[in-house]
Amino acid sequence: MTDNSGDSADPDESPSHMFDVVVVVGGIAGVSLAYELAGDRRVALVETEFVLGYHATSRSATMFLETYGGLDVRALTKGSRTFLEDPPDYFVGPLMSPRPLLQFAVPGHGDRVRELRSSTEGLELLETDEIRAICPYVRPGAIEIGLHETRTQELDANALLQGFMAGMRRRGAEVFKNAPAMRLEQTSSGWRVHIPRLTLGASLVVNAAGAWADLTALSAGLSPIGLIPRRRTAFTISTDGSPRDVTASDPLLYNIDEPSTSNPKVNNYFALQRIAPHVNPATPNPTTSRSLAHSNAFKRSPLCTRDRCEHPGPVCEHSAPTATW
Ligand SMILES: Cc1cc2nc3c(=O)[nH]c(=O)nc-3n(C[C@H](O)[C@H](O)[C@H](O)COP(=O)(O)OP(=O)(O)OC[C@H]3O[C@@H](n4cnc5c(N)ncnc54)[C@H](O)[C@@H]3O)c2cc1C
Repeated sequence: MTDNSGDSADPDESPSHMFDVVVVVGGIAGVSLAYELAGDRRVALVETEFVLGYHATSRSATMFLETYGGLDVRALTKGSRTFLEDPPDYFVGPLMSPRPLLQFAVPGHGDRVRELRSSTEGLELLETDEIRAICPYVRPGAIEIGLHETRTQELDANALLQGFMAGMRRRGAEVFKNAPAMRLEQTSSGWRVHIPRLTLGASLVVNAAGAWADLTALSAGLSPIGLIPRRRTAFTISTDGSPRDVTASDPLLYNIDEPSTSNPKVNNYFALQRIAPHVNPATPNPTTSRSLAHSNAFKRSPLCTRDRCEHPGPVCEHSAPTATW
């Protein structure tokens, strides 16, 4: 493992380290790819941060959802199930455990839910009363209709990342941390990747930079494809006063019209998220609890932990976020 904080290398310098593949960045995408490629290639992985998995990979709701996303994403998710159910030895403990999903629509928006039901197998349509029987912390009238899915799983994202990291190293991949890929330069035989104080050479470079993928493309002199980085805010609500404790079998609630979820955790908190456009994916200034509490996105949450909520409509003002990040 190499820490590469320091000055830039001379751009004209010959590569000091040669590889078959340099994977630019160390989120779950880059690390899993480096793990696979390191089986029969010399692989380097470069990451800006001092640890791997620092950004989106550490902020996930960690759900395994085969009916979520476009067709390509769904196919990839389905194709991963066998690996996740029976991972190689590098991985410690089960990587998944059952966790149901409830996709819902607020009043007046039920058509998308019915449409998804008609195009996807294995989803059970639930009316409001049936939903409240499963989730007593859902406010009366806050949800028109929902889809209950029980094949969904909760991932142990940390165990997954650690397993890929262990396997990647055992297969000989070299990891450079504190090592932003500042410039990628095409040569007659492949690429030079300039990181602080070093130049790496490779026949192939993989851009797995997630929200930064367009910036990485630009640093290689390539055209961006129009990715828009977005910031998500996660927050918790205390469930003190809830009709009953939250359990491990409570479903994750997902609003089909808004990118926000309510993820009941057994420690009696709900973790929710919402997405806001943002130009810099690494900006460390999440929405504060105070501004979040006043936002409509928060007030439209279908949850209330009071036994008899007097806000049966789309907006409730009882709950307050206890923490955001
Ligand atoms: C709040 C939230 C909830 C989510 N919930 C789920 C879920 O339930 N289920 C699910 O499957 N997915 C979920 N996701 C999505 C999932 O987390 C992401 O798809 C995944 O983590 C993306 O991984 P990545 O490796 O592409 O990106 P990242 O983890 O962001 O990694 C990109 C890395 O690139 C590095 N980097 C950027 N530029 C450079 C450079 N020039 N040089 C070196 N390093 C660089 C960054 O430092 C970063 O570490 C969620 C995401 C969020 C934010």
